[in-house]
Amino acid sequence: MPRAEHGISREEISDSALKVLYRLNKAGFESYLVGGCVRDLMLGKLPKDFDVVTNATPEQIKGLFVNCRLIGRRFRLAHIVFGREIIEVATFRGHHSVDESDNKLGQQDAQGQLVRDNVFGTIEEDAQRRDFTFNAMYYSVADFTVTDFARGRDAISRREVELIGDPETRYREDPVRMLRAIRFAAKLDMTITPRTGDPIPKLAHLLANIPPARLFEETLKLFLGGAGVATFTLLQQYGLLQPLFPQLSEALKTPDSRECQFILRVLENTDHRINGNQRVTPAFLYAAFLWYPLEEHAQKLQAESGLSHYDAFNIAVGEVIHRQVQRIMIPKRFSTVIRDIWMLQQRLPRRFGRRAFQLLTHPKFRAAYDFLCVRGEIEGGDPLELADWWTQFQHAESGQQKKMLTALRQQEGGTARPRKRRRKPSAKRSDSNA
Ligand code: ATP
Ligand code: MG
Repeated sequence: MPRAEHGISREEISDSALKVLYRLNKAGFESYLVGGCVRDLMLGKLPKDFDVVTNATPEQIKGLFVNCRLIGRRFRLAHIVFGREIIEVATFRGHHSVDESDNKLGQQDAQGQLVRDNVFGTIEEDAQRRDFTFNAMYYSVADFTVTDFARGRDAISRREVELIGDPETRYREDPVRMLRAIRFAAKLDMTITPRTGDPIPKLAHLLANIPPARLFEETLKLFLGGAGVATFTLLQQYGLLQPLFPQLSEALKTPDSRECQFILRVLENTDHRINGNQRVTPAFLYAAFLWYPLEEHAQKLQAESGLSHYDAFNIAVGEVIHRQVQRIMIPKRFSTVIRDIWMLQQRLPRRFGRRAFQLLTHPKFRAAYDFLCVRGEIEGGDPLELADWWTQFQHAESGQQKKMLTALRQQEGGTARPRKRRRKPSAKRSDSNA
């Protein structure tokens, strides 16, 4: 496609990416922009990042750029660092032949999954190894053309997510492609063609073979891309949530279960925040995904063991997180926040005297309060009343706050004192957790 047909102009391309392309070309190598950036430019969207592909090997790339570091094992890649911007440069990938199974460069496991993929090849081979037809378009600054190897332009005009090659084979090679199909359909507001979508429910279980760290990265992209609601709905439709969140299995069988409503409500807020450039934390999402499994597990523990609700809840918090990280890794910096949000759900009802003021200063008060508000919306009853109380309390002047606390004490009447004695050690314990 010449310039006039694809409409991409150099002004829309990051200066750093242009520098990389020019330097590679000048050194006698071929180089192209490829993947999401070309697709997004053709869709008239602002690309998230610019990926470059070349016939230079990682070592040759490193030789050309001082600001280059080589990364990756499954894929060896060069990162060229320009301040906060990183341009990823990959070498053309080649095919794996079946008798290559003991090859050091490319390797498949028993399920047909590629565990190593460092066979270099030609641009045609590279294009065939890419996932979707709209991701296999190559833009060159040498002649300003876009080379479209898999009819990506047609897919874009039909707004279709279409896998390159035989879908079942491609999903077996890399089951994460199933998640990517959903992500692009939701984010780009496209439909998944039957050929590409039909095999997914049957193969969804293969996600269990993906390392939890990679699934963590993928779920961030799925739910923090600004189209979380659409993504969740499609994931559910294609049976992909169950392998990601096994503890939600039962709830997922009924799309309008309380669990799904709660998660969708949180995702709706998240989408709204992301599209308004506000900060979001993945911890809040995980806390929401696992909240009802946590409550259920705590109740079960309590019933089975005769532990206090507080102790059962505490143990359940650890166990629910432990079960989840078997599938999706959750870095410590997020799991601590998840715990805080959950523990604070236990503490927010206990507002007597100074505690109310102490809670307001807790670093995760805001997140926990937002969480409680969504619970209130979905559950009504106690959580709703409590959320309203905290809304009022936060915005009240200090005289009014004191009145609210006195009213609360009177309302609770004689039960306040014995409860206080019993709960004091618990409150301390969760302070030290926080
Ligand atoms: P985004 O806008 O989210 O960055 P992207 O298409 O650029 O979308 P990346 O994960 O950045 O996605 O990957 C860059 C390119 O690498 C893709 O467009 C695709 O051509 C190829 N690619 C990425 N992951 C896979 C995969 N699992 N299998 C095959 N090709 C892949
Ligand atoms: Mg990209």
